[in-house]
Amino acid sequence: MELLHDPAAAQAWCEDARSRGHDLGFVPTMGALHEGHLSLIRRSAQENARTVVSVFVNPLQFDEAADFESYPQDLDKDASLAGDAGADLVFSGRLDQFFEGELNAAGELPTEHLRNPGPAALGLEGEHRQGHFAGVATIVARLFRFAAPSRAYFGAKDYQQSLVVRSCCDDKGRPDVIICPTLRESSGLAMSSRNKRLNGAEREHALHLVVALRAAHAAWEAGARDAAELEGVLAASLAPAVDTGEIELEYAAIRDPEQWSATRPDGRLTSAVALLAARVGTVRLIDNARLDQVPFGVGGVL
Ligand code: AMP
Repeated sequence: MELLHDPAAAQAWCEDARSRGHDLGFVPTMGALHEGHLSLIRRSAQENARTVVSVFVNPLQFDEAADFESYPQDLDKDASLAGDAGADLVFSGRLDQFFEGELNAAGELPTEHLRNPGPAALGLEGEHRQGHFAGVATIVARLFRFAAPSRAYFGAKDYQQSLVVRSCCDDKGRPDVIICPTLRESSGLAMSSRNKRLNGAEREHALHLVVALRAAHAAWEAGARDAAELEGVLAASLAPAVDTGEIELEYAAIRDPEQWSATRPDGRLTSAVALLAARVGTVRLIDNARLDQVPFGVGGVL
């Protein structure tokens, strides 16, 4: 496994691998790798001759300085975990290396260089984290350009992001974007790099999200097909935790996975995804579940 600290060197490595006829699978990450990330790397290693992993805490996609500054970072450990999971190359880099010659005097990427993340960025995360998806789309498009992979692997855990990144493919639709299931702890809690920042009590409180997703799933199984009714189930499940201050809810929403909409869909749903965002202490967590599919988590029971 090779570790490169320069995206241009990674680009040359990828070109060389492609010139030898190797299919490249690519897993973009922000590091602090956990089993969720490793599941993407393992899948890529199964489906491609070479697997490339990027580790870059992308400042463009953070809407809160404190969240960026406290984001866990340990590149050597990540490289070792990624290598064990089947990565052939791990690369990182600085913002000025990813956007060479594009940063202004303050070291920032001018807003006109940001990519439009498209309609999937409207509503929910896009509304609560201003500029987040423009930052995601900008770095993902740039990473795709450096690695030029055949396939790129993303997690369903970041549901709206998984829709946004499709807009980063080239005009021939490359790479193939493959969405992998959310890995969960045995409690059901979705794995996340941010879970490291939860204390014992907060870990318990975070499980309210899982309980709410289970309640919505049960309502769907019992025949509920109306988004407002299903949102009511989520809200009712979360209400006690909101009232006691154990969680601070940002949204609990239902969307149609077949057709993203900024607002709640009308009419009878034939498929549905429940999406949640909440703060537990200072940590902002998101989770989601398809209500019309079973199982909808891997690792732990939702
Ligand atoms: P991040 O490092 O948080 O930017 O995540 C990198 C990739 O790993 C993204 O495609 C995420 O959706 C994915 N990912 C994060 N958590 C999980 C999880 N629990 N299960 C599966 N994929 C995940």
